[in-house]
Amino acid sequence: MTFFLKVMACFFSYVLLESKTIVITGGAGFIGATVTQNLLKRGDSVIVIDAFLSLDSINGDRYNAMKRERIFTLQQQFPDTLHFYECNIEDKETLRAIFSKYQIDAVCHLAAHAGVRFSMQFPNEVAKTNIEGTINILELMKDYKVKHGVLASSSSVYGNTTQIPFTENQPTDMQSSLYGATKKSLELIAYAYHNLYDLSLTCLRFFTVYGPYGRFDMSPFIFMDAIYHEKPITIYGDGSAIRDFTYIDDIIQGIIKAIDKPAGYQKLNLGAGRTITIKEFISLIGDIVGKEPIISFQESFAADVNMTQASITKAQNLLNYNPQYTVRSGIKLMYEWYKEYENKKNSTVTV
Ligand code: NAD
Repeated sequence: MTFFLKVMACFFSYVLLESKTIVITGGAGFIGATVTQNLLKRGDSVIVIDAFLSLDSINGDRYNAMKRERIFTLQQQFPDTLHFYECNIEDKETLRAIFSKYQIDAVCHLAAHAGVRFSMQFPNEVAKTNIEGTINILELMKDYKVKHGVLASSSSVYGNTTQIPFTENQPTDMQSSLYGATKKSLELIAYAYHNLYDLSLTCLRFFTVYGPYGRFDMSPFIFMDAIYHEKPITIYGDGSAIRDFTYIDDIIQGIIKAIDKPAGYQKLNLGAGRTITIKEFISLIGDIVGKEPIISFQESFAADVNMTQASITKAQNLLNYNPQYTVRSGIKLMYEWYKEYENKKNSTVTV
């Protein structure tokens, strides 16, 4: 009996001491909902802030429906520890009301309009959310004394450099897109808040993330969907551009380690640390789906970059970040999800 009480005391002290309250902005999105799920599973309380926004006029509604469903499912599973707020991060007063309700240990700021092409089509919307929204979050962290934050930056900040692998201390002054410029701005603004208010802020530069529940506007989903439905794929350029594709669970591992480790001001690459050409990537998806890709080529955009490859040494040293997935193993897992998603979509349509 005494032993049982001791075990229970240990368990409760672990839960009470170790579990955290974490705000995740963009927590209904691809990366955000997966981080949320992982934090809830380990016992943290998570406050998700998301406005279900999308600039994707073709697939935005479908993507938002998937995000709503994911949050709904998580709410059913974790009714006591998931607190969801449908709120635009541009709305500072509603954010203030949320921040004032909780004792928050850390913020993981992922909400943004992501994507190079959307930033060409909707420059003002992208700048407003990605820059003004970020300032709102940092202001509230300052006001409510939340000392640690992890912010989503991007490999886009490296622009069209040919100096690979990309290292965190190389110059990032030549942006190829407004999207990249908003992420570079986020890093600069974060430094100012670190300097002025002593916030610990880790900016994570994600390298093309793919996997289950991935964004419909991103190449891994577009390629898989086209190959599965035997539709042509448009490649911008000749397909020799190289990319560091990173499987979602590797990114989540890095984000959670960064949440758990305040480290002053940091910029860190989170990638797989190895590359594949776009043509090889498509052919590998074809191999896993079991169909021959149909490819057509078009001229590349000035905003497209020719190569991305992360040096992950800094994240390895600081966070013990250790990516586990090869592109083949990650694409196989994504395909398992994709088939299920397709079946469900079709059964919904025919009912
Ligand atoms: P996502 O679009 O799936 O998630 C972003 C979420 O933010 C969405 O759920 C959206 O509804 C929400 N959002 C957008 N504007 C908002 C606003 N004004 N107020 C409240 N919520 C808002 O994108 P993702 O792929 O999960 O990306 C997450 C973060 O990582 C973004 O900051 C993105 O720029 C960055 N990033 C992603 C990748 C990648 O490969 N997926 C690469 C580099 C950087």
